[in-house]
Amino acid sequence: MRRFFAPVQLTHAPARELHNGSFVAYAEVPARAETILRAIGGAEAPEDRGEAPIAAVHAPDYLAFLKEAPARWAAAGRSGDAIPYTFPVVGRRALRLDRIDALMGRYGFDATTPITADTWAAAYGSAQTALAATHAVFGGERAAFALGRPPGHHAGADYCGGYCHLNTAAIAAQAARDAGHPRVAILDIDYHHGNGTQDIFWDRGDVFYASVHADPATDYPFYWGHADETGEGEGRGATLNLPLPHGTRLDAFRVAQSRALDAISRFGPGLLVVSFGADTWQGDPISRFSLTTSDYALLARDIAGAGWPTVVVMEGGYAVDALGANVASFLSGF
Ligand SMILES: [Zn+2]
Repeated sequence: MRRFFAPVQLTHAPARELHNGSFVAYAEVPARAETILRAIGGAEAPEDRGEAPIAAVHAPDYLAFLKEAPARWAAAGRSGDAIPYTFPVVGRRALRLDRIDALMGRYGFDATTPITADTWAAAYGSAQTALAATHAVFGGERAAFALGRPPGHHAGADYCGGYCHLNTAAIAAQAARDAGHPRVAILDIDYHHGNGTQDIFWDRGDVFYASVHADPATDYPFYWGHADETGEGEGRGATLNLPLPHGTRLDAFRVAQSRALDAISRFGPGLLVVSFGADTWQGDPISRFSLTTSDYALLARDIAGAGWPTVVVMEGGYAVDALGANVASFLSGF
C-alpha cells in the first residue's frame, strides 16, 4: 500500500487553542505525523500537482486569506498565532472585511484553529498527499494512504475549523470526479462529524457522504451531523449521518459502518475516500468511544472487502503514544 507524506506538513505548529473555555496546548501536534510515520515504515513525498485541484473545492478568496492572514495579523501588531475571537452571526448587510479580526471570524468557525506563518505550506502539503494517494489509485493501486496532517474534514469551501484548513477528503473526491469517475463516495469514520465535507457536497448527487461519529448533541461540532441531515436539492439522500453515543465499542461501531457501506454500495461509486480518524480509540484524550487497536484492522477489512479502489486520508487521533499502532492496525486491514 503506497503511503504519502511531505516533510513541510510538520511545520504547522500552533502553540495554543481555546478549548472548553481555557487556552490549552494545541492537540493537533506535528508529533502525530512523526509517530505514524515510524509505525508505518515511512512514506513517499507526494508529487506537487499545484493549486488547481485545491481551488476545485475551495473558494479563491478563502485561499488568499489563508496565505495572507499571518502577515496581516503581524501587521496589526499582534504576536503569536492568528486566532479569531468574534464571529459574524448577524448578516444584515455586506460584511466589512478590511480588518484582520473580521476576516478571522469570517473564514473560521471556531477558536481551536490558529493560523501560523507555516499553516498554508503545511496544509498545501497535506492536500498534495491526498492528491498523490488518489492518483496512485488511478494508476491501479487497490488502496493508498495520505498521511494528511493538518487534517481536513472540518474545513468547508470557504472556512477553517477543527484543526482543519484544506479539506483533503473533498479534494481527493473532486479530483476523482474530474478524472472521470461519475460517482464517488466518502466514508468518514473519525470520532467527530466531518461538517466541512458534508457542507461541500450537501447539494450534490455525484458525491455520497456517509459518516459514523459521536452524537453532535454531546460532541463537537454540535451544529452538524444529526441523523436528519440528508442533503438538499440534487444531493437529497446523498448524505448519511450515523451518530453514536459515548462509550461505543466495536460491535455497535461496526453495525453503523456496515449501514454506511450498504448505503454506499447502493449508490455505486467508482472510488471510495475514507476519512480515517483514530480519535475513536478508547484512550483518546478529547473523545469518548471505546475502540481498541486491533478493532481498526477489522473495520478496515470490512471496508476493503467491499472492493472499491480506496483512498484513505488521515483525520484526527490525539493519543500520540498509541496513534502509530492504531493507524498501522487500520492500514493492515487493506
Ligand atoms: Zn476527530
